Amino acid sequence: MEKTFRNYEAPDVKTAVREHYRKMRRNQTYEYVQRMHKKYLTYDKPLGLWDAMESLNRLIDVSDPDLDLPNVQHLIQSAEAIRADNRPDWMQLVGLIHDLGKAMFLWGCDADGTSQAEQWGMVGDVFVVGCALPDSCVYPEFNTLNPDMQDKRYNTELGRYEAGCGLDALELAWGHDEYLYQVLKHHKGNKIPEAGMVMIRYHSFYPWHSGGSYSRLLKDSDARYLEWIRDFNRYDLYTKCTQTYELEALRSHYEPIAEKYLGKGPIYW
Ligand code: FE
Ligand code: FE
Repeated sequence: MEKTFRNYEAPDVKTAVREHYRKMRRNQTYEYVQRMHKKYLTYDKPLGLWDAMESLNRLIDVSDPDLDLPNVQHLIQSAEAIRADNRPDWMQLVGLIHDLGKAMFLWGCDADGTSQAEQWGMVGDVFVVGCALPDSCVYPEFNTLNPDMQDKRYNTELGRYEAGCGLDALELAWGHDEYLYQVLKHHKGNKIPEAGMVMIRYHSFYPWHSGGSYSRLLKDSDARYLEWIRDFNRYDLYTKCTQTYELEALRSHYEPIAEKYLGKGPIYW
């Protein structure tokens, strides 16, 4: 309870979150996203699932006002809530790993916004790059700071996209969702079902899944994605005073599931 009180009262937490979003809006341009894809989607750095999980104990997510809870606890809590509802094993695994793209900070840097100190290229709600920023973004007053909003190619409702092109044709602000999605997509022997991959890829896309924006860019089959995301999102939200877990104690339950869907070897990031 003490933990909840302290977080609730701390005004500096709010300032940090706001500053994070200001930098994110200022720096996440279409050109920046292309550069990050080239730089980070190399699939040449081996790192096991459990080591990636441990690494998140060293990362404090600046976009998350609940600074006291290590990120790995959030992953376990999501997974355990999915398990308690008797949902499929692959969905439990998705809960456990959905934020592992934040392991990017292990090889990130301040200039890219992918480090402990600068996280605007790694965490926080994402939006589409290459078209106009909607008012459904958090802190919409920062939208005009984005250089692309002065660029005729990118500052219209459709921007560089065609109407009805569908979600998968859009490029989103660079962050942990897209990173983990691409890493797993390129992982040999990945057997996570499509719904799980969608949950990983779009869980931070709030202006779409909660804000209802970008309707002209969507296609009919995207409605299926929205159902999956809304189903998953309930488990991604957590309360601050819930139980904390020991990762090692839960390994016997999750390791066989991880091996079933991802195999035994390391993942190449
Ligand atoms: Fe996330
Ligand atoms: Fe999460």
